[in-house]
Amino acid sequence: MLIITEVLELETTDKVEIIDITGNINTAIAESGIRKGLVNIYSKHSTSGIFINENESGLLEDFKDIIHLIVPTNGNYQHNRIDNNADSHLRSFLIGCNETIPLEDAKLSLGTWQSVFFLEFDGPRTREITITIIGE
Ligand code: ZN
Repeated sequence: MLIITEVLELETTDKVEIIDITGNINTAIAESGIRKGLVNIYSKHSTSGIFINENESGLLEDFKDIIHLIVPTNGNYQHNRIDNNADSHLRSFLIGCNETIPLEDAKLSLGTWQSVFFLEFDGPRTREITITIIGE
């Protein structure tokens, strides 16, 4: 069994931004030489998220709209007393910071309409995502 770790660096350009990282992950898998196992995608930040869903332009706008509805930007948040980004943390808390995906035939074993996304909630920033590939 092999364990390979790679860090994907992203430069985000907006306060809230959705970036499809499926291709980056499949590149890391190809370079690892691992054909079967598991892949964990982990964002090392408390104001971002990782999720899996469909890459359709209207739906990506719907995700942003619903995030703003559930966690309004200008809520009366305690954390804003020390750091004016409580909305970003609360959005991250709802989405979660990692996903684990089966690896088959040297690529992510996703459903036909599934992609893996990084969600920026407090950009623009430089972000690091750890890709851990475990298998043989
Ligand atoms: Zn903060």
